[in-house]
Amino acid sequence: MVAGNWKMNGNSSLVTEFENAFNEITFDFDVLICPPSPYLNLFKSDSLATGGQDVSEFDSGAHTGDISTSMLKEFGCKYVIVGHSERREDHGESNALVALKAKAAINAGLIPLICVGEPLDVRESDTVEAFISAQLDALKDNLSVAEFEQSVIAYEPIWAIGTGKTATPEQAQEVHQFIRGYFASIDSELAQGLRILYGGSVKPDNAQTLFAQPDVDGGLIGGASLKVDDFVSICQAAN
Ligand code: PEP
Repeated sequence: MVAGNWKMNGNSSLVTEFENAFNEITFDFDVLICPPSPYLNLFKSDSLATGGQDVSEFDSGAHTGDISTSMLKEFGCKYVIVGHSERREDHGESNALVALKAKAAINAGLIPLICVGEPLDVRESDTVEAFISAQLDALKDNLSVAEFEQSVIAYEPIWAIGTGKTATPEQAQEVHQFIRGYFASIDSELAQGLRILYGGSVKPDNAQTLFAQPDVDGGLIGGASLKVDDFVSICQAAN
């Protein structure tokens, strides 16, 4: 899977550029763009799925600015990102809230891309596994094996997001293997089938070596998903 996260960037012309490119090219794995929600309805191409960048844990009601799972579905989304580090940092989202959002998404038939990942001080103090475990524990407390089977995990070291500082393929593999091992202790079949994406400054020139790691099943792409040529090159690397 290759997923693009436009964050609060892009416009309708960029949607048209992507639509034109993906009308000409198809990949035999899942490719999706998560644009700002006003643009979701403009994506029509069959070879490019869409996802929300966040979703409410509630079905409806007095939650100004939030978007529900049914709204995402009505606008054609198959996926939604939950727990992106920018939501966790800018909006104070806790591990427990991220788990509730993932559960709401799954119950509505959306596939959540659940983001986990450590800040720089955690990496430097060599406590990455404990940090990621705490994020995963909150998910485990709320989601069943069947629900995890409808989920994708994205490992995004915060120090690598938007910084141009990519995790080395070995660093990515080490954490991905740890995450798969964590799920193997819940259910071995779940762990084998689970898609674990890497995110953090993935570019056309580093995508192939990252994706070649045995436990890296694709990428969540920020900055490079805003340039259609770069995004297509990353998909080609995945291919
Ligand atoms: C992201 O925001 O999910 C991301 C991975 O960003 P970038 O590729 O720009 O580091």
